[in-house]
Amino acid sequence: MNITVYCGSNVGLDPAYAEAARELGAWIGESGHTLVYGGGAKGMMGVLCDSVLKHNGSVIGIIPDFLATPEQLHPGLTETQVVTTMSERKARMIALGDAFLALPGGVGTLEEISEIICRVHLSLTAEPCILADINGYYQPLYRMMEQMTERGFYEPEHLAAIYFAKTVEEIIEILIDANH
Ligand code: AMP
Repeated sequence: MNITVYCGSNVGLDPAYAEAARELGAWIGESGHTLVYGGGAKGMMGVLCDSVLKHNGSVIGIIPDFLATPEQLHPGLTETQVVTTMSERKARMIALGDAFLALPGGVGTLEEISEIICRVHLSLTAEPCILADINGYYQPLYRMMEQMTERGFYEPEHLAAIYFAKTVEEIIEILIDANH
């Protein structure tokens, strides 16, 4: 399957975040799946892509032309797709994905996974939407979404359809289930 992963262009302060990216990348490579991601060489993106490639996996990087510089673009991508806008990138990453996952990241990651959360809400996607809640990273977002349901802006069944996975093992279980 094509696994679309959104994640930070930094590694963050807790080494558990990069460790999760390495573990997930190793599993994607070893199990013959393809990583679809933003094509970056830095931060969590670079760690994840390096790990997939190290474990003989394929990686499709989709990057807007203004970011496709030698410093930003990962040099080892199996396939590079250069697009002109962030919106075009996001649309292609969605079109290609059989599952959607956010590892820890910043506002870019939040923006990207928010679109998937909305698509689940609107029943536009049946593919799993997973937040890698490593050391509780996504708990504040979960609480915000819980508050949305409590205050009548969001439905509990839609919140329940979003996976908040505590470990990479949990993420892998969800992905294996989705692939059956
Ligand atoms: P952030 O979470 O703010 O670090 O942004 C990361 C997300 O935004 C990634 O999933 C990418 O799709 C995109 N992004 C941000 N910075 C870069 C970069 N330098 N190269 C490629 N993609 C990037």
